[in-house]
Amino acid sequence: MADEHGVLIAGEIQEGRLSQSTRELLAHGRGLADALGEELAVALLGDDVGDTPKEAIAFGADRVYAVTDPILQDTPFDAYVTAIHKVCLEHPPRVILLAKDDIGTEVGPRLACRLDTAAAQDCLDVRIDPADKRLIAERPVYGGSCIATVTCSQTPMVAIVRGKTTEPLERDDSRQGEVVAIAAGLDPSTVKTRMTEEVAEASEGVRLEDASIIVAGGRGLGGPEPFQAELQELADALGAPLGASRAVVDAGWVPYSYQIGLTGKTVTPNLYITVGISGASQHMAGCSGAKVIVAINKDAEANIFKDARYGIVGDWKKVLPALTEQVKALG
Ligand SMILES: Cc1cc2nc3c(=O)[nH]c(=O)nc-3n(C[C@H](O)[C@H](O)[C@H](O)COP(=O)(O)OP(=O)(O)OC[C@H]3O[C@@H](n4cnc5c(N)ncnc54)[C@H](O)[C@@H]3O)c2cc1C
Repeated sequence: MADEHGVLIAGEIQEGRLSQSTRELLAHGRGLADALGEELAVALLGDDVGDTPKEAIAFGADRVYAVTDPILQDTPFDAYVTAIHKVCLEHPPRVILLAKDDIGTEVGPRLACRLDTAAAQDCLDVRIDPADKRLIAERPVYGGSCIATVTCSQTPMVAIVRGKTTEPLERDDSRQGEVVAIAAGLDPSTVKTRMTEEVAEASEGVRLEDASIIVAGGRGLGGPEPFQAELQELADALGAPLGASRAVVDAGWVPYSYQIGLTGKTVTPNLYITVGISGASQHMAGCSGAKVIVAINKDAEANIFKDARYGIVGDWKKVLPALTEQVKALG
């Protein structure tokens, strides 16, 4: 593509507001656009984008493409790809950022394919190489054991960025920006998939992704019962949700929504307490952003102790009740 310029974010609207991941992408994108000395744009898609363009400008965008079409009401991925592709053809960007969520993971590679370029999945960080204005992305490989630094030889460069890898910029309603209305003009016959039903997962309390404290259990607990009893008691005392390793989910002790790791959720709590988790690299890939890890494991050689700030070597049956009692005593 000729005359590529600036950074484009494929934004997302949730309940009439910019999604948290879009606000975070705007912070990443602002850094890239400033390093390039170019503009930061965001494409917001829907049947009606409401006040979100103003919000996007307040969170760092220079320009908003308000892309509307009745078909975009139900988030059909085919339509998203077509609509963002149209924006890219009309206003060719140098860099495209998407969030690593349901939309970004699905749309990013398909968009890259249509643009005849490559997509870097699951990026933890993105920056610009000042020598040639190329995007450099860091992403975990080998189950999170190593971090690869990748770049893209084609343009535009597409990166799908993991959530919670930066904080949104402070909202500044005095920021000025341009809003460009684009009628997507989608042809319904090109939309091959449609949403037939949306089922909200039943959950109570804080989401794992938003929690500041998490208590996570592994196969070392020996069965599902301790999740509902001893582990839940500690979690309740701390006001924390429960998480789990994949071994536990595969065994059917807790639902998949508890799973943390490479093929589960990515969490970034201030305090992550693990009980009977070995600390396999695939598990650590989902919790390595925790500020403090406290591990309880009876095996002093367990991998988890390499990452834990505080480790307790012992049988959880003895350690956990004592810890819960102390937490309760501290209020
Ligand atoms: C492609 C791929 C993706 C994967 N994705 C994920 C993922 O997203 N998340 C994930 O968690 N895993 C994932 N895994 C699986 C991962 O490799 C491990 O198998 C899994 O994390 C192990 O779970 P665990 O630590 O609970 O069990 P184990 O490895 O069996 O460890 C149990 C631990 O409990 C300790 N223990 C036993 N009894 C006690 C006791 N009484 N008191 C205290 N400690 C005790 C043991 O010493 C041991 O360290 C993935 C694997 C692959 C190949």
